[in-house]
Amino acid sequence: MAKTRDRSWPPPPTPLPHPVIDNHTHLQSISHITTSEAPDHGIRGYIDAAVSVGVTRMIEVGCDLDALAPTVALTAAHPELLGALAIHPNETPLHAHTADPGPDGLDPHYSDRHSTSLADAIATVADLAAAHDQIRAIGETGLDYFRSGPHGIATQRQAFRDHIAIAKELNLALQIHDRDAHEDVIEILLADGAPQRTVFHCYSGDAAMAQVAAEQGWYLSFAGPVTFTANTGLREALRVIPTDHIMVETDAPYLTPHPYRGRPNAPYLIPHTMATIAAECGLTLEQACARIERTTVEVYGRW
Ligand SMILES: [Zn+2]
Repeated sequence: MAKTRDRSWPPPPTPLPHPVIDNHTHLQSISHITTSEAPDHGIRGYIDAAVSVGVTRMIEVGCDLDALAPTVALTAAHPELLGALAIHPNETPLHAHTADPGPDGLDPHYSDRHSTSLADAIATVADLAAAHDQIRAIGETGLDYFRSGPHGIATQRQAFRDHIAIAKELNLALQIHDRDAHEDVIEILLADGAPQRTVFHCYSGDAAMAQVAAEQGWYLSFAGPVTFTANTGLREALRVIPTDHIMVETDAPYLTPHPYRGRPNAPYLIPHTMATIAAECGLTLEQACARIERTTVEVYGRW
């Protein structure tokens, strides 16, 4: 860490031989990033950059109260996008005023939106998802034991169950956020009954958990970390889950794939992650992209 970190945008990769869909991105957060090397191109610019390398469609995720209505508007304005809505597990304790100090020991950071009750915030998710056809998933929802203490976790568990119920009632896919909480996420899904299309966003489990997902018919979406040398467990999971239950995502602006770890991320960088997925699955890049595109449309429906 002695050198100054390079925070510039990585160069565009070689275009993919077949279109693929980014299962989970936050274009609204990317557009807040500006670096000295690359000015802010706006959301249209990030979509165009992705399309030009074969990432022709994306699921935009709005997962705090302030992002819900803008996600509806954004996905209505850009035909490449579908939307997912939820109150993120790290947001739910803030609405409920049950947040514990973070892993850094700092007190929770409240914003104006957290004066809305958790029940009202989740009701807004349900209302917007019911009213707009381009919202096809509830997410990201789940459990985050990294950022939460015992009070927050109790709130997260109930909020996760509320989101599961909404997904089932509206017959939408579910996108799960699971950080250090694999066993409890699975326990709640099995106890309440998982929605028919349940997707682990940024899958972080091992091969044994992938076996459970395979048995349940759940989907695993792989992000940049699958390209990191140390993450052998993630690559083993790729060989366990059936190839028609694999998806790919950026979770941009986070989790930039190798060799650009630490630099900003956007959907145009998916080709790096796709190369790893294809190699681990023993598929050509073209075959892997075609399969993932088909799976993603099966999960969210045509658009
Ligand atoms: Zn995310």
